[in-house]
Amino acid sequence: MDKIALLDQATIDKIAAGEVIERPSSVVKELVENSMDAGATAITIEIKDGGLSLIRITDNGSGIEKTQVPIAFYRHSTSKIKSVEDLLTVSSLGFRGEALSSIAAVAQVELITKTAPELTGIRYLIEGGFEKEKEEIGAPDGTTFLVRNLFYNTPARRKFLKTAQTEAGYIQTLAERLALSRPDISFKYIANNQIKLHTSGNANVKDVIFQIYGKEMASSLIEISEENALFTVTGFIGKPTVSRGNRNFENYFINQRYIKSTLISQSLEEAYKNFLMQHQYPFCALYFGFDGNMLDVNVHPSKMELRFFQQESIYQKLFECIREKLMQKDHIKSVSFGKDTNKNEKKPENIKKSLPEPFEKKRIEYEKPIPKKDSEKQPDYVQEELAYERFLSDQAKPNHRIIGQLFHTYWLVEYNETLFIIDQHAAHEKVLYEKTIRSLKQKEHTTQLLSPPIVLTLDPQEERALMRFKEELLQIGFEIEPFGGKEYAVCGVPGNLFHLDAKQILLEILDNSMEIQASVTPESVLEKVASMSCKAAVKGNHAMNQKEVEILIAELLELENPYFCPHGRPTILSMDKQELEKKFKRIVT
Ligand code: ADP
Ligand code: MG
Repeated sequence: MDKIALLDQATIDKIAAGEVIERPSSVVKELVENSMDAGATAITIEIKDGGLSLIRITDNGSGIEKTQVPIAFYRHSTSKIKSVEDLLTVSSLGFRGEALSSIAAVAQVELITKTAPELTGIRYLIEGGFEKEKEEIGAPDGTTFLVRNLFYNTPARRKFLKTAQTEAGYIQTLAERLALSRPDISFKYIANNQIKLHTSGNANVKDVIFQIYGKEMASSLIEISEENALFTVTGFIGKPTVSRGNRNFENYFINQRYIKSTLISQSLEEAYKNFLMQHQYPFCALYFGFDGNMLDVNVHPSKMELRFFQQESIYQKLFECIREKLMQKDHIKSVSFGKDTNKNEKKPENIKKSLPEPFEKKRIEYEKPIPKKDSEKQPDYVQEELAYERFLSDQAKPNHRIIGQLFHTYWLVEYNETLFIIDQHAAHEKVLYEKTIRSLKQKEHTTQLLSPPIVLTLDPQEERALMRFKEELLQIGFEIEPFGGKEYAVCGVPGNLFHLDAKQILLEILDNSMEIQASVTPESVLEKVASMSCKAAVKGNHAMNQKEVEILIAELLELENPYFCPHGRPTILSMDKQELEKKFKRIVT
């Protein structure tokens, strides 16, 4: 074996740097956080080639005094914490005085900075940890960092990076989160000479959401403002209609910093349960305030994952707050003939599909708006918010005008300058489901006795399912007895099956219950069983008449969450008059 030797300082620094600077986006994060700490009100992030050839961060903050510049690049040099006690407050998250030294260890760094009182600024060059140049120059107040050829001296790290495009993507996501974290700062993000994001810094969260996520998101928000003994929270959550397929749209901030928290995520997602399809996640931008002593800061700062004391109470309080807000709102998805270009938006499964070809070709493109000048920015989501008052309210009901049925499936209803499109099946299913669940919970199920019983022959899988969910089936009104061998006699069926084939439904329930995992609670089995029986119940393409539809709407109206069927599909869509008028060129936009 080789002799033991001490590593030289340059190697030690490179290794240490690896912990802080993992990829180009880490550089951006550290430098922008420094700019924010320096009181900047405008920050520009510019990158080339995914940040590998160049990262430039410009701010109008305090600047660094000439004499302090070389010190700023020492390891553990910081103007932000003086002692270990300071580390115990959340405002010191991520302050370790390691960023500049780490970046300088693995890149070629140029710094131009000037404080307001000083007449001239300084230009400072440091490469691989070694000072190269230092000169006085004329410069505006504030700081510019140029980081070139990242990892030029650590090829192993460089190899570990993804493609420039992917790295640029990480930086864009980061830039968006940074912009969201501080709506009072104007952020500009430029990649390969293209402006990708520009926020105004007017402190309006909704405007930032509009800039990042587009019009549809900005017009589908529910405001949150809550204060309790444990925390304060403000910001927005997305209506369930704008959910996404992953958690990337859940944004949490504490003390104006983006953080991750499993606790907060779980509480939020639980509140959205039954409002979203499985594997769909909500959008949110939530700004929390916690007392320092509620936070367990004993975690790695760069991991951004926070832990709390009093976890359960926080979970419960947040859950209640979000749930209550979701219950209050109309969650009708507004559809348009225009093509949705919002990123990550799944192909909408709504009426657009059925448009004839010529319409398809003439779709209006809603590009993600990136205004050239701040003054040109004109968010138009405000108007949309007001477009429909609550469609499903007692006051609205007398003013519904039921137009008729479309494609034997959809009911068209006019109300308040808006066309509402109700999916009869989804709505019916939802009403049935809620009724079933309610009667199950109140244990008021009825059984309709069958004489003679229906005899079923079950395969082994179905038999197992029957054994496992016997209790639940009994609870919803099925009475089933062994009839010898593989045969079972169904002596009673739920009383509310609306002339549907009980045998068919039972078999469907048994077949589907295989999917139910072992770990679920009896209550969720009930929910599942109820949801399956309702799904089966509305399968028949039952033609409804006007009167039945009126009753259906009235029943929907009484539900806590009428906007989604038990499987999370929307029950109602809307299209406003303006949208149609635009299409017919009656109005110019
Ligand atoms: P930390 O942020 O943990 O203090 P850094 O290595 O990131 O450590 O920065 C070292 C110091 O350099 C900071 O404490 C700050 O005083 C100074 N500094 C860095 N960037 C800026 C900037 N953009 N504007 C003003 N001061 C800065
Ligand atoms: Mg820093």
